Amino acid sequence: MENLKQDLELLYELQKHDVEIYNLREKINKIPFEIEEKKKVLELENKKIKLKIRKENFIRLNSLKNEKETLLDSKEKKINKYLMELNIVKSNDTYKTLLSEIEKTKEYKNILEDEILELMEKIDKEYIIVKTNENELKEIEQKVKNEIYEFKRFTEKLEKEISEIEKEREKQKLKVNKTILSQYERLLDDGRNEKVICIIDGESCGGCGMLLRPQLINQIQKYHELVFCDNCSRILLKN
Ligand SMILES: [Zn+2]
Repeated sequence: MENLKQDLELLYELQKHDVEIYNLREKINKIPFEIEEKKKVLELENKKIKLKIRKENFIRLNSLKNEKETLLDSKEKKINKYLMELNIVKSNDTYKTLLSEIEKTKEYKNILEDEILELMEKIDKEYIIVKTNENELKEIEQKVKNEIYEFKRFTEKLEKEISEIEKEREKQKLKVNKTILSQYERLLDDGRNEKVICIIDGESCGGCGMLLRPQLINQIQKYHELVFCDNCSRILLKN
């Protein structure tokens, strides 16, 4: 192999693209988990706020108010009925009894009216709580929706970067010796390392850090054949 040194250097450049692609893919792979996390947060907030909203309380107060209003209405009718009777009654005693009944019913009616007013105030307050919390929930939902959308946009951006790098990679690929390239790609397919070829670091493998045998370093420098690390099987190169 005449130009092994040059071929390996070209391959090393090609690998730079592969590493970039690998790193970008790693980023993309993490995104679905991040989206899931956001969804969990939303679910939790949803539960918390739903508890706070207390719609049941609002409904209960309203039905209580309706009951009291019906009662109030019946009391009013009763008073009217007594008043009619008052016009036609003959005996004095019955007249007095009727007057006292009217008085009692009026008192009860006043109590009912106060209670209804009090209930209406409570209902108003409750309504504000319900609305405020519903709005809070809407805001959180919108925020999370936006965040998820941003994640999707980010994924698209990364995909675009990858396809740009892939174009560059294709160009670089044409320059690399076919035999060496196929060996490189086979090692890459093993998925063991994101880096298949590495520059030695002094006397150690630049990939796994293992100290290399002097014989191996010698072989690397001669560029007669491909030299692999005994430990991690990466292709070794010296600059
Ligand atoms: Zn190694």
